[in-house]
Amino acid sequence: MKISDVTGILKKNTLTVQSIKNPFEDYHVITLDIPRDLSWEAGEHGVFTLPGRKVSGKPFRPFSVSSIPEEGKMLIAARANEPISDFKKQLFSMSKGDQVNIRGPFGWFKIQDNHSPVVMITTGVGITPMRAISKNLEHEETRPIHLVHSSPSKHLYRDTFEEISKKNRDFHPVFTSSKEETIETYTALAKIHGNDAHYYLSGKPKIIQATKTELNKLGIKDSQIFNDPYRGY
Ligand SMILES: Cc1cc2nc3c(=O)[nH]c(=O)nc-3n(C[C@H](O)[C@H](O)[C@H](O)COP(=O)(O)OP(=O)(O)OC[C@H]3O[C@@H](n4cnc5c(N)ncnc54)[C@H](O)[C@@H]3O)c2cc1C
Repeated sequence: MKISDVTGILKKNTLTVQSIKNPFEDYHVITLDIPRDLSWEAGEHGVFTLPGRKVSGKPFRPFSVSSIPEEGKMLIAARANEPISDFKKQLFSMSKGDQVNIRGPFGWFKIQDNHSPVVMITTGVGITPMRAISKNLEHEETRPIHLVHSSPSKHLYRDTFEEISKKNRDFHPVFTSSKEETIETYTALAKIHGNDAHYYLSGKPKIIQATKTELNKLGIKDSQIFNDPYRGY
């Protein structure tokens, strides 16, 4: 981690809600208007609070940013997770024009270089930073870029990943629906790319740890694995 990965926490902004959508199940996607001078790097997250609202329990939540500044908006996504916390109840019931506060974006979950093959592996809502990273690599056709997204039924942002794969022949998303299929898919990628690739894992800490253990068993060194655990889950 570099100092510059965390100094972004000093940035403070108030963002306006453009829309809150519930695309399927308990997934919610929040689109926020951004000030012209707010920038961030793909893979970073912000720490969000709800100004002027009394929230019972922890009054803040970190969320990864799913969009890149070039899109002119900030996208974040979260699941309700029964029993829904008061923070998420209040966040998901906001209307267009309501405001949220953000510290950041900042973070250390970033593409490490411009030549190593990229293998992104994630489950469920862990997909959030991978959308920003994939958008950022949309026009980069110099190395293989793989995404393995596991989710039992629908896959968040699937249409975006399929669009990117139409534009970039080196971008290969795979959508899996079971643990076995997911392991089989990334095992095949680890056998092809071995320690030449960088492996990026995001989502619940337990799942990240399990995936890391599997990759280690396949001979992938810790130095090739980068992760973004959603501490708090
Ligand atoms: C760097 C980073 C990035 C992140 N990015 C994202 C993101 O993009 N999207 C996202 O959704 N999350 C993200 N998170 C996690 C997020 O900040 C929250 O911790 C997470 O969404 C859970 O919040 P919550 O309000 O649902 O649960 P919390 O209230 O924080 O509770 C934590 C856990 O305990 C469980 N729990 C709480 N109360 C009870 C109860 N009474 N009985 C049983 N279980 C209970 C909840 O179901 C939940 O799983 C990120 C975290 C980090 C650190």
